[in-house]
Amino acid sequence: MPTYKEALKINEHYALDNNKEPSAVKLLMLHHAEMTSSALLARFDEPMDSEAYTAFLRSVNQYVVDHKPVQYITGSEYFFGHYFCVNRDVLIPRFETEELIGHVLDFKQEYFGDQPITLLDVGTGSGCLAITLALEDERIEAHATDISEAAVKVAKENNDTLGANVTFHHGDLLKPVKSMRFDMLISNPPYIPDDESVEPLVKNHEPHLALFGGEDGLDYYRAILKDAESILADRYVIAFEHAHDKADALKRLIRKHLKHVKIIHKKDMQGKDRMTFVLKKR
Ligand code: GLN
Repeated sequence: MPTYKEALKINEHYALDNNKEPSAVKLLMLHHAEMTSSALLARFDEPMDSEAYTAFLRSVNQYVVDHKPVQYITGSEYFFGHYFCVNRDVLIPRFETEELIGHVLDFKQEYFGDQPITLLDVGTGSGCLAITLALEDERIEAHATDISEAAVKVAKENNDTLGANVTFHHGDLLKPVKSMRFDMLISNPPYIPDDESVEPLVKNHEPHLALFGGEDGLDYYRAILKDAESILADRYVIAFEHAHDKADALKRLIRKHLKHVKIIHKKDMQGKDRMTFVLKKR
């Protein structure tokens, strides 16, 4: 058997030669060796366990040859300090979505102070938004919906593993909670226009239900905004993630459906218009 170091080097080069990320190969090694980075370093010159080596090579090929996202191979993604289980039934939580969490917590504090509030996450997928918010602030009573039963199953598992207290509802957008009232509504709905070209890594592996948002990519915002006030309290905050080129279109849509609201756009760390917040005082 090769040593951990040899196996890692050879396969990092293999990935690089195929225009893939060597860092993904390291993640796969840590996953199969069931070690942290520092433990791996300490055992770098020992021969790799043969079963782990075989499994590692199989995973490297899934990544390099089949272009399978590394998160679906290891079955997890790190999001805002927690590992979330993911499979092909849910979107892999994205780095930019972590930024939404920070803003939502800030608006929560600014608008509701230390008061307990109710929050709804629409189209929760892996549950990353609702679960993280519930863990960050125990005064947030979080509910979440998803039309995919398989996604709700993943989200519930994540909720239990991470010790959160989110209530999940299976169903379309706001329908499963239509008799309830929320102080905050958040959503990172599918927002890629149907005919936009999408890189194969995403298009061939992630659920299309979680990616595409109709002809202009705004179908889910339209549907949510149309009914939003029927499930919101008199004073509310809405937080959306969206495509970087949709801030203006989304603003028009918000103005069409909601009166007397303040609209604030925020950029992501790459300087792209990525989030929009709607604030209603009374
Ligand atoms: N809310 C989940 C996330 O942000 C799922 C989003 C989606 O499926 N479009 O990752």
